[in-house]
Amino acid sequence: MTTTAPTTAPSEGTEEIQDAGHVDVLIVGAGVSGLGAAHHLRDQFPDRTFVILDAQNNRGGTWWTHRYPGVRSDSDLFTYGYRFKPWRGPSIAAGEEILAYLDEVIDEYDLSQYIRYQHRVTAASWSTEDRRWTVEVTREDTGQQLRFTTGFLWMCQGYYNHGKPYLPVWPGMDRFQGVLVHPQQWPEDLDVSGKRIVVIGSGATAATLIPAIAGKAEHVTMLQRSPSYWFAPPTTHELAVTLRALDIPEEWTYEILRRQYIQQLDMLARMAQEAPGDLHTFLIESMRPLLPEGFDVEKHFTPRYRPWQQRIAVVPDGDLFAVLREGKASIVTDTIETFTEHGIKVSSGEEIPADIIVAATGFNLSLLGDVAFTVDGAPVDFTERVTWRGIMISGVPNMAYVFGYFRHSWTLRVDLVTDLVGRLLATMQDKGATMVVPTLRPEDADMQLRPWSDPENFNPGYVMRSQHILYKQGDREPWTHMLEHEEEREILPKADLDDGTLVYR
Ligand SMILES: Cc1cc2nc3c(=O)[nH]c(=O)nc-3n(C[C@H](O)[C@H](O)[C@H](O)COP(=O)(O)OP(=O)(O)OC[C@H]3O[C@@H](n4cnc5c(N)ncnc54)[C@H](O)[C@@H]3O)c2cc1C
Repeated sequence: MTTTAPTTAPSEGTEEIQDAGHVDVLIVGAGVSGLGAAHHLRDQFPDRTFVILDAQNNRGGTWWTHRYPGVRSDSDLFTYGYRFKPWRGPSIAAGEEILAYLDEVIDEYDLSQYIRYQHRVTAASWSTEDRRWTVEVTREDTGQQLRFTTGFLWMCQGYYNHGKPYLPVWPGMDRFQGVLVHPQQWPEDLDVSGKRIVVIGSGATAATLIPAIAGKAEHVTMLQRSPSYWFAPPTTHELAVTLRALDIPEEWTYEILRRQYIQQLDMLARMAQEAPGDLHTFLIESMRPLLPEGFDVEKHFTPRYRPWQQRIAVVPDGDLFAVLREGKASIVTDTIETFTEHGIKVSSGEEIPADIIVAATGFNLSLLGDVAFTVDGAPVDFTERVTWRGIMISGVPNMAYVFGYFRHSWTLRVDLVTDLVGRLLATMQDKGATMVVPTLRPEDADMQLRPWSDPENFNPGYVMRSQHILYKQGDREPWTHMLEHEEEREILPKADLDDGTLVYR
């Protein structure tokens, strides 16, 4: 245990709040980001005390929450893996394999002693006088209220609400006699054998779920309002096979494949900006030969947006297209008019029969884990705040957050951000500072503020639905975020932590 000894203290109200002690750093979230942060702290600051709090009852964040059939990465694991821990499996991995990889990280770096599950952080209050955060926690298992204090809060809470998925309201939903499920809350005992299944949605979740259940179900229909982009890379990279056959040390193989994938992703991201028409054609044409003959590609597979304005759905080895060719699955592109007793009626008048409807409709975005922040007694209204490099927030002292990439693997940014936060903690130590606050300089005061995500650049539904609750970005460094990995891997390691935008006290 890394905290100071707990003592019980009565709260101001009637409820007992248990004092859970003080830590130098408090990490929220035991997913890919929180475990990466913890590894970095142990490695670079072995003397500092810290704790990781997670609301769920197990590690892995996203990979623990999402356990529907077929759940897998759509990134290659050579870049989704941490820089410090080689990935030894195929390029695309199942959710369970990712959890096993995270378990190895926890074991090898002895992290389990720091993790407290079923600890939901509800509020965090900064006191400049005491130079510390007071963090309110509710135990999900017992309902008990705890209070931690910490010198530095490291928010690794991901970007969506794990407990409440996004489920639109459709007419007639209550009439439906079958089973309605959301992949984020997949019932362990749901039997799909011989069932007629409609999957609403055309994103990564639909792409992974459909091939996984199509063999067992009687038929699966993917019902999409509008088409998405798809990309069908091989599950195993040819170069990986060659390198492994040569018996090259695993660390080298990892590094080589990592570089290869980063280069490919850079190229795709660049092409999306510079030649979106060419990328559009490339994606559609590479899919065409994988589809059944005479398939209406124009209707079902030609999106109305530019590639990468939303994530490109990856179908390793084209497995989704295989089940379409085999007739086990089909696609309907239309809008839902109403649910009926036995399925869904779409605007064309067609009724799609269903025993099970899967709403693969995505997330509710969550702002910093829905934690209520106050600084010196004043609630923080994030809509008035500006991000500092997508890592800290203006006017919020001693708090960093991890937000990964959408177009490259999330974890590539985890590695970069943890390096920078390490440098920040070391800089504070060198300066003898107990407080660091991102602060707009006089020359930044009237800078133009821009939305969290520029819709021209990235506009998936869950982001657009929540822009109004999010902090802003400015028009210049360091008040920007959502940069591409190609730029950031140069910028972040060299970022000047003494440029006047971080005020140390
Ligand atoms: C099905 C699916 C597949 C994906 N595939 C990829 C992929 O292939 N490549 C890619 O780059 N990205 C992918 N993503 C995005 C994915 O979310 C990130 O890759 C990454 O897992 C995020 O890790 P994280 O630790 O930042 O957040 P999360 O995985 O969201 O974990 C955050 C943790 O913090 C906890 N938490 C949140 N708020 C609180 C609170 N107030 N108190 C206590 N605990 C809290 C949560 O319980 C959770 O366990 C995928 C997402 C999904 C849903």
